[in-house]
Amino acid sequence: MAAPDRIDNFFAMQSARSDRWRDTLTAAQKWVSGNGSRAAVEDSLGEISTLEEFHAYPGVRLMSRLREKIAAGDAGATAELISRFSNAILTKSYSHQAETDQASESADALPELLPSVIAGRDARRPYFEVLLVTPQPASRWAALSAEFRRLRRVEDSFIYEPVIVGSFEDALCAAIVNPQILAVIVAEGVPFRSSHDAPVLRRILDQTMGALAADASALRLAGILKNLRPDLDIYVTTDRAVEKLASDPAAACATRIFYAVEELLELHLAVLEGIQKRFETPFFDNLKRYAQRPIGTFHALPIARGKSVFQSEWIRDMGEFYGINLFLAESSATTGGLDSLLEPTGNIKKAQDMAARAFGADHVFFVTNGTSTSNKMVVQALVAPGDIVIVDRNCHKSHHYGLVLNGGQPLYVEAFPLTQYSMYGAVPLQSIKKALLDLRDEGRLDRLRLLDLTNCTFDGHMYNTRRVMEECLAIKPDLIFLWDEAWSGFARWSPFLRPRTGMGAAAAIESWLQDPASVAAYEKQQKDLGPKPSREKLMTTRLVPDPRKVRLRVYQTNSTHKSMSAIRQGSMVLVKDVDFGSVESQFHEAIFTHASTSPNQQLIASLDVARRQMELEGYGLVMNAISVALKIRAIVNSHPVISKYFKVLGADELIPEAFRQSGFVDYLVPGTTWGDIVKAMREDEFYLDPTRMTLVCGNAGFDGTQFKSLLASRFNIQVNKTSRNSVLLQSNINNTRSDIAHLVRVLVEICGEIEERFATGGEGERKGFAARTKSLMHDVPDLPNFSRFHDAFRGNAGKHTNEGDMRTAFFMAYDESSCEYIPLNSPEINKRLEKGPDLVSANFVIPYPPGFPIMVPGQVLTQDAIGFMRKLDVKEIHGYESAKGLKLIRPEKLRGKSAASRAAQ
Ligand SMILES: *Cc1c(COP(=O)(O)O)cnc(C)c1O
Repeated sequence: MAAPDRIDNFFAMQSARSDRWRDTLTAAQKWVSGNGSRAAVEDSLGEISTLEEFHAYPGVRLMSRLREKIAAGDAGATAELISRFSNAILTKSYSHQAETDQASESADALPELLPSVIAGRDARRPYFEVLLVTPQPASRWAALSAEFRRLRRVEDSFIYEPVIVGSFEDALCAAIVNPQILAVIVAEGVPFRSSHDAPVLRRILDQTMGALAADASALRLAGILKNLRPDLDIYVTTDRAVEKLASDPAAACATRIFYAVEELLELHLAVLEGIQKRFETPFFDNLKRYAQRPIGTFHALPIARGKSVFQSEWIRDMGEFYGINLFLAESSATTGGLDSLLEPTGNIKKAQDMAARAFGADHVFFVTNGTSTSNKMVVQALVAPGDIVIVDRNCHKSHHYGLVLNGGQPLYVEAFPLTQYSMYGAVPLQSIKKALLDLRDEGRLDRLRLLDLTNCTFDGHMYNTRRVMEECLAIKPDLIFLWDEAWSGFARWSPFLRPRTGMGAAAAIESWLQDPASVAAYEKQQKDLGPKPSREKLMTTRLVPDPRKVRLRVYQTNSTHKSMSAIRQGSMVLVKDVDFGSVESQFHEAIFTHASTSPNQQLIASLDVARRQMELEGYGLVMNAISVALKIRAIVNSHPVISKYFKVLGADELIPEAFRQSGFVDYLVPGTTWGDIVKAMREDEFYLDPTRMTLVCGNAGFDGTQFKSLLASRFNIQVNKTSRNSVLLQSNINNTRSDIAHLVRVLVEICGEIEERFATGGEGERKGFAARTKSLMHDVPDLPNFSRFHDAFRGNAGKHTNEGDMRTAFFMAYDESSCEYIPLNSPEINKRLEKGPDLVSANFVIPYPPGFPIMVPGQVLTQDAIGFMRKLDVKEIHGYESAKGLKLIRPEKLRGKSAASRAAQ
């Protein structure tokens, strides 16, 4: 291994595993043909053997069989065995073999490559692995595995193989590197230290396990495992006072506690039941049953049961395309076992509760109109007209429109600009604290209700969610938080990203609040700050909230369809709010306001299924998505040809240094260790989600939109977002190594074409290219900040804060006589900018890209915004018709209002 510390080595462990086996096979084949040696095979095997101990296949027995063959000098048998292992690992066919009951039992029952060996894929039961952490000597492990295998019955819905380890360190390593492990059985009395010393694992362990060395109890290990992978079921076995152990508060992390191994069958059944609890999809299961029943329908949904489709002369192809099940599963009924999404009491309720468990929330609400609707629901449920909401101006339009609808007043805070790439980052905590303190100083903190932020941002900036919430709660202990995690619902399943999610941080704060040390920490800080701390002091101190006053109220929305296996528009609202009872009826009103009365059954089912998948394989899928992203980052930035014209931006380019307090530069910078990354994740104000890759294409002469359509039309690669000189690539739970290969090949081809043009076009071509890249990369317009609301919409707003009544402005524009249009380039605009009266926008103007409102209703337009609009070379600008010009509110309509608004102050 080249640089064991590099984190891509860690994330790639799963994919690297089959590569290493193939390398070992090559070594063995060389040995067979006389070109290699036994030593080379042994070396190669030595590198994988530690990792192999954390996997059920090939397992201890087959590995020792292999070593026997090597020791006996039998090159042929060695190569044959390795070839079988290697193929089985690559194709995962060993999981089929578990069905024959002897996968690791004898070398004669080795997996075949052909799936036809198996009765048929569909008949196969889902396969997983169970980690046994035992103090029994290694010589007993094979027998122990066999005991577990003997418990298998045909009635079992799932099948598993045990993975046995003998120390806490090995247990943790196994849980980290083997995503197929879904349950852990920990016995008491297991030693702490591993007998291995694999360098990569050692560094990770030292980061994670420092605390455990001192207290190596089974419950402590259970707690650490659960924190690492909340998806694991953990069973603790003890031969001492089981009742005492069970009453230890630390036992909460264990699924069940058993008295010693004499209950092997009970353990086996408990493990299967634990998986069943995650496998179950109450809504989807019921929908499948529903689809099988003969049902006559007289409700208003002709398509249900498919008769109007399949009997039609003209639309039969739709039925053929989608298949019968789609129509059998269509229904507008909410009875007959189908629940109502608007007021669920049956299997939708159950499915939502299971999602709450999986996502670490108290409540989950399924939403079938996308997070656009989820956000509007939350904003409406929590904010009344006139309430103030601190909100990122650069957030998704659903937040702005939500505030228009309910009359909440946005107090816009600005994300830091990334001018060179024409995009925004995220909102610095200093700006948020400043807004809070301004409101406090003007005596209007009571009107502030919500802090509404996007996490992660489109381009991958993740907040230090815990720090943001704690510091805000120190100033306003009942502030509510809405984290729009449209893109990052998947982050829950990565221990690296989870602490930076709304729910991940809420869980950490919750346990901090329960820790008696928290009050002491608060009081110590109060003492240090003194009775009347200056603003300066409050701004520069990492504030600790008063745990006795804090009301922890956190909401998260996610577009399940954007990062998990849900059908488009499938979204969830996650709630962790100690005062949810006080807003519950409002919340239901918000659902009634925004949810369709005809929610799509397939969408609801897909939300149910997406949850099942993440609970059973989310950990491995997300690890793979991160590994794919790191691979793309590494290849693009180091490939001799690609890196001449393209670049994936690192944390150092997307996050200003001041927000990377740990000194973190980027994931793959030489010398960056595992420890650096963990430190950055814990400490830095912003962290870059590695799966979101900003690929700069400006140096290749393409603007973002151009490059996006090139990729789509010629190469079948779809990307999401673009900026002036970049496109955003995103790796997902569905990406494979072939996707990486395809992307790399395409980039090489595009680079080849550029160089070809240079070769044929000569100096002229080069000059043109240079001018174009300069324009794309350097002549970039400054991003305009929010200016202010016109006084007419400021009501009783304070002097130092910029909130305003956007709703009144929005609806004023409904009266055409209140509005005027002025062409963007007319001298009239310049004159008014200089001498007044103010230019006041009558509506939202949202250019794509960048996709945030340059103008909002009631906003006074300044040179910045006009200048930006004039330079903008994008075609799609919502809210602006170039033929007519800017839509403005007539000054005379504002005059009276200003006076009224001032008088009201
Ligand atoms: C996509 C997105 C939304 C809207 O979600 P839909 O599911 O498309 O309705 C909201 N917020 C952010 C940050 C988004 O990226």
